[in-house]
Amino acid sequence: MRMYDIIFKKRQGEALSKEEIRFFVKEYAAGNIPDYQAAALLMAIFFQDMTIEETTELTVAMAHSGDMVDLSAIEGIKVDKHSTGGVGDKTTLVITPVVASLGVKIAKMSGRGLGHTGGTVDKLESIPGFRTELSMEEFFDIVNKIGISVIGQSGNLAPADKKLYALRDVTATVDKVPLIASSIISKKLASGSDAIVLDVKCGSGAFMKDLDAAIELAHVMVNIAENAGRRCVALITDMDVPLGENIGNSLEVMEAVDVLRGRGPEDLRHECILLSAEMLYLADKGTVEECKAMAKKALDDDSAFEKFAQMVSAQGGDADYIRDTERFEKALYVHEVKADQSGYIHEMDTEKCGMSSVVLGAGRKTIDTSIDFAAGIKIKKKTCDYVNAGDTLAVLYTNNQGSIEEAENIYKEAIVIGPDKPKPRRQVLARVDKAGVVRY
Ligand code: URA
Repeated sequence: MRMYDIIFKKRQGEALSKEEIRFFVKEYAAGNIPDYQAAALLMAIFFQDMTIEETTELTVAMAHSGDMVDLSAIEGIKVDKHSTGGVGDKTTLVITPVVASLGVKIAKMSGRGLGHTGGTVDKLESIPGFRTELSMEEFFDIVNKIGISVIGQSGNLAPADKKLYALRDVTATVDKVPLIASSIISKKLASGSDAIVLDVKCGSGAFMKDLDAAIELAHVMVNIAENAGRRCVALITDMDVPLGENIGNSLEVMEAVDVLRGRGPEDLRHECILLSAEMLYLADKGTVEECKAMAKKALDDDSAFEKFAQMVSAQGGDADYIRDTERFEKALYVHEVKADQSGYIHEMDTEKCGMSSVVLGAGRKTIDTSIDFAAGIKIKKKTCDYVNAGDTLAVLYTNNQGSIEEAENIYKEAIVIGPDKPKPRRQVLARVDKAGVVRY
């Protein structure tokens, strides 16, 4: 088999065979195909597309390019969850203990923040002592003992995807549905769960800016996961506004704890209940409606909170910080962002809100910058709220005083104020499973 022929075939718009796709992934991962040929194929895929069958094959081949985590030592149906990335998205911190408290084992590998979006691993590491790098033995042991563990992704998970993603990043081939879908699902297949709930974010703070594009991505991901033998459901959720009222690592942990204690902002609680219900449903715990009621109860009777506290202790974290979130270290500098005019908030450019938090220190500007766990933003007014000139829109927190001016400017640019009250948006915009798409 020759790489030249595979590139030529895709350039002409033909579907590649299983053997051709397997050859490409295996040989590229092994370093036997040069980047220029792989880049040419990626660009041909970008313009000519891939069928669901080709995308499934690409996904499975990438999953098998490294370790395939075997969760069979853990009893029961294991359900994973993946978010395509958002701002203020701390749902994993809430959902995983909810589901685990109801008897579904959670053995989850999560990622770090990327660009303007936050990551679960960074958030968990803001809890003093919390370890996200565990050996597989310790990981399994904790899941078997308490039913839940969340760790960072193992180094050798889908290495072909890692290499291809880096190449896509520099060849303008990231934003293509079969390439995004295969990249995400290959890592989920390799992580070993039996079923997957996808939270596909849609809006100004998401990868997918419009609903049709988000639904298309969800449809392809659900179908390739199902073709690969994993049950899968996707919710398309709104990311035209940050989720909840806090952006930044320890601020988000504190907010997640609020929700776990039956309080917290309504949008965050609602989304966590819906996503938990889908996970419980895939674990055969009941209908989606029954599972919603179970999830609400777990939040209101503290059982999900206690499960989270158990996980924190099991992974070396100081659970006293969770029991009393006032203990989290405060940022040295606090600055209020004021509204320049009166009116309704029409729009929050959510990517800019995320970038403002990165400037404050809550995210990484380069791969090796460290995170200021106390940095971030408390949002005081959101889309549809009325503000008077001089009202506080948000409070900025940082240990780097020099970052405040830039962060404030970016945050202000993100907020559009106008005279009329905008129509409220739905939080969950669609649900996709193998039977099809339901738009709300
Ligand atoms: N996240 C991934 O893991 N891969 C993509 O291609 C896009 C987002």
